[in-house]
Amino acid sequence: MPENLPENITHTTSDVEKTAVVPAVESDDVDEIRFTDLNLDGRVLSALNDLGYEKPSAIQAATIPALLEGRDVVGLAQTGTGKTAAFAVPALSKMAELADINGGPSKNTQVLVLAPTRELALQVAEAFTSYAKHMEGFTVLPVYGGSPYGPQLNGLRRGAQVVVGTPGRVIDHIEKGSLDLSNLEYVVLDEADEMLRMGFAEDVEKILSSTPAEKQVALFSATMPPAIRRIAKKYLNDPAEISVKGKTTTGTNTRQRFLQVMGPHKLDAMTRILEVEDYDGIIAFVRTKLATEDLADKLRSRGFSAAAINGDIPQQQRERTVEALRDGKIDILVATDVAARGLDVDRISLVVNYDIPNDTESYVHRIGRTGRAGRSGDAILFITPREKYLLRSIEKATRQPVEQMQLPSTATINELRLGKFAEKITQTLATEDVSLFRDLIATYEQEHDVPAAEIAAALAIMAQGGQPILVQDIPVAPAGQRERADGRKDAFGSRGPTRTLTEGNATYRIAVGRRQRVMPGSIVGAIANEGGLSSAQIGGIDIRADHSLVELPADLSKDQLRALSKTRIGGELIHLELDKGRKPAAGRGAGEFKKPFKKDFPKRDGDTRFSGDDSRKPRQGKGAGAGSGRSNVQSEQW
Ligand code: ADP
Ligand code: MG
Repeated sequence: MPENLPENITHTTSDVEKTAVVPAVESDDVDEIRFTDLNLDGRVLSALNDLGYEKPSAIQAATIPALLEGRDVVGLAQTGTGKTAAFAVPALSKMAELADINGGPSKNTQVLVLAPTRELALQVAEAFTSYAKHMEGFTVLPVYGGSPYGPQLNGLRRGAQVVVGTPGRVIDHIEKGSLDLSNLEYVVLDEADEMLRMGFAEDVEKILSSTPAEKQVALFSATMPPAIRRIAKKYLNDPAEISVKGKTTTGTNTRQRFLQVMGPHKLDAMTRILEVEDYDGIIAFVRTKLATEDLADKLRSRGFSAAAINGDIPQQQRERTVEALRDGKIDILVATDVAARGLDVDRISLVVNYDIPNDTESYVHRIGRTGRAGRSGDAILFITPREKYLLRSIEKATRQPVEQMQLPSTATINELRLGKFAEKITQTLATEDVSLFRDLIATYEQEHDVPAAEIAAALAIMAQGGQPILVQDIPVAPAGQRERADGRKDAFGSRGPTRTLTEGNATYRIAVGRRQRVMPGSIVGAIANEGGLSSAQIGGIDIRADHSLVELPADLSKDQLRALSKTRIGGELIHLELDKGRKPAAGRGAGEFKKPFKKDFPKRDGDTRFSGDDSRKPRQGKGAGAGSGRSNVQSEQW
């Protein structure tokens, strides 16, 4: 163990129950430690050298010695801090040395890494392979769901010293007998918090209990919720708990800004930002799978090269998409939180939080997609006026200010567009042979007696391909104000006889209400996720004692209705049905419902909105319901 550990690294040698709170110190303090100080095998060192790694990151400097010593390790560090090498490098170094002693590497699977998604499994496998590039006869095999068994079975049959997999598929292979773990020496749980969040706790435990008792275990995670602490306690033997805190949890090289924008104007806002600011790769986060496709389509139709990734997209296509982003074939990836978790693409220079994330933790993960490997990054958060006070939680979580940004003005955009248009003319004149068209135009000018400028104007319209060259103003008045223009108090429970719905919507009834401690955010989350609706399609929500009324599109499909009738919130079936006696609205009205919060929020000082009997409980963080089903968005909300 290095003696000169900087202050920002805690090294607890025993009880994982104690997480030391560490002073915030810049990560630069690890300057003194170099890879060559760490007793690593020469082949691994030269691979690191080839990759251009100058020195170990803080988490690497602290965990590599402990792992080389053979200790179990709990490693806590934010995304982008180099956790993969932290667990891969010592494992490879040991295997290389063992291979020398035994006159060649054994074919047995000695290392198993569990990762939450196939993208991450692939990423980890690729990293392993790159660190092992100077080691002969080593195979790293990724195994994950959603892809054919054949190649994976062949790979396993041929023998792979390192298997990196998602929990479900690893269990499949164990059960099929295709993955023999009897010689396993080292298990890594990567992104442990995410694995748990995705409901893999049982699978992970099952795998851990089918591995030999004598083995080394490392658990890496960005956060340490109680469930992970339990797993660590149960399956790790006297682990060294290493926790690295940078000055901020997100890294100082990501500038964070927010833009106040109403839902319907987000697309225009995004387009403007993309037009004026200079970006390399971009990742935009939305709330639902459907919204990823929707936004990617819209961006493409506006001339941007965008693609969607979400859990429903076949895996090979997802991989190709990420590869395309990496290679610069596309510039914008539109993703859900789960699909993008842990993605490591250096060229991502901007993260757009198109829809606000469910909690601060997701926010931290999202913006961790940029500012990778010491580069600088930008994060922009679209926030509706009602979501605005959540900024404080974000600033607290990231320990960094989130500055307000202004939407590039209509004038700025138009000036820019006209400038670009003129430049295209200049370029074309300078580089293309225009003689054929010049003659054509000259003839037209004579024959039709139309001035050249007129003809050029007509051609410009043709060149625009039906797209307007100038943008229109984006209205600034938040639509939500309409609902309170009558001065009615915006409090739950207030309802009048003058109910009107937005056109095309209907009122639905769900069987959960105040008694079930349901919050608007859980309703929106559950309905959006299970029904494949965007949160913009969910109108007012009125929470009553034992049921709630929700405004949704009147034309929900049978499938949507079926899915929603089986949806649960906080464990309770919601039994969604049309509220009898209410017809779909014919016109747009003043809005009977208070516009809901789209999320569950902790109660604010002076906020009367959640003043109902059950709402005084703080609902922050991971609640008691964690892990009790997908629709229980409550536990993961703000
Ligand atoms: P994490 O798992 O903590 O999110 P990764 O292991 O994915 O982080 O590493 C993030 C990026 O940093 C990767 O591109 C990786 O190649 C790079 N990286 C890791 N260690 C170092 C290092 N010591 N020096 C420079 N770059 C590094
Ligand atoms: Mg990682």
